[in-house]
Amino acid sequence: MGSRVPHIVVIGGGVIGTSIAWHLAKKAARVTLIESNDLASGSSGACDGLVFMQSKKPGIHLRLAMESLKRFSDLKKELPMDIEFRQAGGRVVIQTPAEYQAMEQFVQAQQEIGLDVCLMDAKDTLAAEPFLSPDIYGSTWSPLDAQVNPIKLTLGFALGARKNHACIMTRSPVLGIHTKNNRVTGVVTTKGEMAADMVVNAAGARSGLIAQMVGIDLPVRPRRGQLVVTQATSRMIFSCMISAGYIAAKFDPSLADDAGEGMSMEQTDNGNLLLGSTREFEGFCTQNTLSGIRRIISRTTAILPALTRLQVIRTFAGLRPFTPDGLPILGPVASMDGFFMAAGHEGDGIALSPITGELVADMILGQKSAIPLTPFSLERFTTPKGQAHG
Ligand SMILES: Cc1cc2nc3c(=O)[nH]c(=O)nc-3n(C[C@H](O)[C@H](O)[C@H](O)COP(=O)(O)OP(=O)(O)OC[C@H]3O[C@@H](n4cnc5c(N)ncnc54)[C@H](O)[C@@H]3O)c2cc1C
Repeated sequence: MGSRVPHIVVIGGGVIGTSIAWHLAKKAARVTLIESNDLASGSSGACDGLVFMQSKKPGIHLRLAMESLKRFSDLKKELPMDIEFRQAGGRVVIQTPAEYQAMEQFVQAQQEIGLDVCLMDAKDTLAAEPFLSPDIYGSTWSPLDAQVNPIKLTLGFALGARKNHACIMTRSPVLGIHTKNNRVTGVVTTKGEMAADMVVNAAGARSGLIAQMVGIDLPVRPRRGQLVVTQATSRMIFSCMISAGYIAAKFDPSLADDAGEGMSMEQTDNGNLLLGSTREFEGFCTQNTLSGIRRIISRTTAILPALTRLQVIRTFAGLRPFTPDGLPILGPVASMDGFFMAAGHEGDGIALSPITGELVADMILGQKSAIPLTPFSLERFTTPKGQAHG
């Protein structure tokens, strides 16, 4: 590479790729972001915007999320767009005594890591959220949970990157990656070829297809999530919410059948309610299904009966980039020099995008990072347990 500035190509114009491009460009790196369609045309434009701490597994997952949350207030000021970040707290709605017991343990483990979260009985929950069904059993509450507009966040990162001289190419699918002596040397797009010293795979649910271009198998699978949007209405919920069943389904795919997907709800600044969501393995299909929409409506109306007065105005579906252990895959890949991973954020990519961009950029530029990337390496899936962090 000599003394010239290395050229870094980021593949994927979702929230993860744009965050990495922005963090790199801010540090004067030479970066090109390549997106097959439009910015935010993947999962980052087909999702909720929950920046939820309570849905994270106590341990490295929650620590990563808490570090990410800390960065949102600066982002609000730094990005050249209003990202509609609101920290109004979040609630996990509990519907049965068994869920209450399970959530007691979950909350205790989260408190031990330093999360500000508490359990509430039904009376206190209904005092805070008077439109909820009187049949609920209680809730957990954290004032830290927040929401953001995921499309504006992605566009804000991209605009910020461009202002810092990053090159952004849309409508340019990457078709191949050139390598020489086990090191990446360039990318091939529908608009031509480009030399690259480093390539970052931030292609979300399609990151496995990019990895295959350099002979790497990724355990990332698309996990469809359907969402329902209602007409705008006056304030019906005062914080974002998920159900205890949502947490169970997130971490145990076998629970995500008709009975166990849980629900999520948030009300946007415009007053629309975003109701979610399903968790389904249906390949790369992003169609809505009647049964999926029915499940969402029946679960959310059981918790918020006033919803039955509203019209549904839109439905859509996105693909979460699922990994077997629920953690993203970040950092270099042992078998290919210059090839870096930043994918597999499942249902957390919006919340984790600020810290992901920072950590990946710091690692690529050889700077000290706030959290070590070792627990997120691809090799954790291939190295026998006990040797993984050796
Ligand atoms: C229903 C649903 C609800 C969700 N709710 C939340 C939530 O409340 N909070 C949260 O934090 N997360 C949530 N998520 C998860 C979040 O949407 C994802 O984790 C996040 O968007 C992943 O971002 P990404 O940049 O990795 O992927 P994407 O946004 O999918 O971006 C990848 C990009 O790569 C591009 N690409 C693919 N192949 C190529 C190629 N060959 N060449 C060039 N470009 C390519 C794609 O076009 C795409 O734009 C939800 C997801 C769904 C589906």
